[in-house]
Amino acid sequence: MSNEKQTRFLTPNPSGLTQENIWLASYALGLTTTQFMAKENFSPEENAKINSLIKRRENHEPMQYIMGIADFYGRDFEVGTGVLIPRHDSETLIEAVKEIFTPDSEFIFLDWGTGSGCIAVTLLLEFKNSFAFMLDKSNAALIYAEKNLSRFNVQDRAKLITDINEISSLDLIISNPPYIPSGEIKNLMPEVKDYEPLSALDGGGDGMDFYRLIFSQARNILRPDKYLIFEAGDAEQVQKLKTLDNNFTFINQILDTGSFPRALIFKKNM
Ligand code: GLN
Repeated sequence: MSNEKQTRFLTPNPSGLTQENIWLASYALGLTTTQFMAKENFSPEENAKINSLIKRRENHEPMQYIMGIADFYGRDFEVGTGVLIPRHDSETLIEAVKEIFTPDSEFIFLDWGTGSGCIAVTLLLEFKNSFAFMLDKSNAALIYAEKNLSRFNVQDRAKLITDINEISSLDLIISNPPYIPSGEIKNLMPEVKDYEPLSALDGGGDGMDFYRLIFSQARNILRPDKYLIFEAGDAEQVQKLKTLDNNFTFINQILDTGSFPRALIFKKNM
């Protein structure tokens, strides 16, 4: 390719800033990135605002916490300290629900450990006749889940709950539970281990505590022939756990972009 073509197709970036810092600086000043790039003079206050955000990022604070927004399934969700940042791997959970229900299906589901609410809100938007119970014990999670329900105007089809005993007769339980084994937390990147809520990550000694708990409760609150969908860190371990439980049959799994089984679909036996 000639140089002339390259400059025509690639946007020049004479500022020398990384793309991440361009986003942060634009955000700091309330400008679009184009407006920021066109700006020539910066007041000391503006420089201070920019530098404070860049400093936070240098200290490994996740970009999404600084900007207050994280993408999930093509939509921007509000996030902040105390709530797990949505992961693209978790989008396999949405694909899994699309395998079992059609866009018009009427169903009542529980999102166990809802966090920001990104999974439940996405399902409410993709399935217009669904109703969500969103369970979390963390106050920060409940605050962000509520913000995101309002942001997408689906609060009328959802109820935030802190106690599993409030519900029964569900068509679906979906969960991205904490599944990192306690001993492995120290090996996570600083963005995760120093900033994200441990309660959303730590799955106990073998990482399986929440699968045990959810399997044991699911049989009581799911209707017969209805579904349990898990995100898994270690799908094999979840399958092993299931073999100890005669109440469920494995139906299917969805692979993530790294080709690991990430969403597992089970059906409660009659
Ligand atoms: N997949 C997440 C991570 O890598 C872990 C989320 C979880 O424990 N559910 O940080």
